[in-house]
Amino acid sequence: MTQTIPATLIPGDGIGPEIVDATLAALEALKAPFEWDRQVAGLGGVQAHGDPLPKATLDSIRRTKLALKGPLETPSGGGYRSSNVRLREEFQLYANVRPARTIIPGGRFDNIDLLVVRENLEGLYIGHEHYVPIGDDPHAVAMATGVNTRQGSRRLLEYAFELAIASGRKKVTIVHKANIMKALTGLFLETGQELWERKYKDRIALETVIVDACAMKLVLNPWQFDVLVTTNLFGDILSDLVAGLVGGLGMAPGANIGADAAIFEAVHGSAPDIAGKGIANPTALLLAAAMMLDHCKLGELATRLRVAIDATLNLDKVRTGDLGGTAGTAAYTQALVSRIKNAG
Ligand code: NAD
Repeated sequence: MTQTIPATLIPGDGIGPEIVDATLAALEALKAPFEWDRQVAGLGGVQAHGDPLPKATLDSIRRTKLALKGPLETPSGGGYRSSNVRLREEFQLYANVRPARTIIPGGRFDNIDLLVVRENLEGLYIGHEHYVPIGDDPHAVAMATGVNTRQGSRRLLEYAFELAIASGRKKVTIVHKANIMKALTGLFLETGQELWERKYKDRIALETVIVDACAMKLVLNPWQFDVLVTTNLFGDILSDLVAGLVGGLGMAPGANIGADAAIFEAVHGSAPDIAGKGIANPTALLLAAAMMLDHCKLGELATRLRVAIDATLNLDKVRTGDLGGTAGTAAYTQALVSRIKNAG
């Protein structure tokens, strides 16, 4: 019998519980061996324990080192910090991995298969910001500090090269702005080039591109890229751009990989405008679950899940409203579960 894998499950807020239920149904049909420890966070955490990231949730992830999570809302007011940022810091989730692959052909861009690996802890997102008052204007000048370390850059770049090679990719592109931000992104670029020269030169191709040119090239000819690796802010923007190339956030999964844990999620938020209506598209979280299966070396199950999603969307043409279809979450899930079961 397959050994069970303990994993933390955070249904999350808004449409979270609906898309998590759909994902659990698919994983159950696959007989994926996860043993779930259900915990709350976000708004759910505040309601249950007065904390968006309760101790029990953190303890659970500390124990399992693995989590699948729905989107979390950070309540405005009350001075709460974003639960997502706290999770990244707590578990040193230094790599944010976002694949973008065309599933439904015939869109504006066909046959896209890109991987964005974003540094998740450093850069301009560390939140060191302040104002400088001048005269009677307390906010006359706004300042932000970015921090990139050689060690942080190296571990992220190393992760990206290893992942690219392990997944049979051909090329890694380092995206930077070292012509202007010479220290902040120059350090990242230099570290990547040195690392490639020393360790990866014979195994994978490397190119470098300035972030503004990269954005243009991604729209003109995205097929020229394979794996993009970059710093926090650029990665945040470019990973949404590539999600747009394959049909939007409803199709975009993400993994946060760290030294102490790995957390898998959909890229989109809690979609409060459609929560509770039974119309949310669970595909992004389903694809995140496939990444989680890969991470747990259950690649065969991951492939079966991806094949079943393809078949449901393209052969059965069962699609939710955001993809132009008429199916609700339950009908889509039922079609997907049938596909999984019928494929054996
Ligand atoms: P959102 O992604 O929740 O919604 C943007 C639009 O996309 C909405 O119209 C929504 O209905 C639609 N949409 C999103 N996911 C969908 C799905 N699976 N199926 C169908 N339609 C979908 O972004 P937002 O409205 O800016 O954020 C709402 C809340 O989510 C905020 O509190 C935000 O902080 C939070 N958020 C959380 C995460 C996370 O936990 N990883 C990420 C982003 C936003």
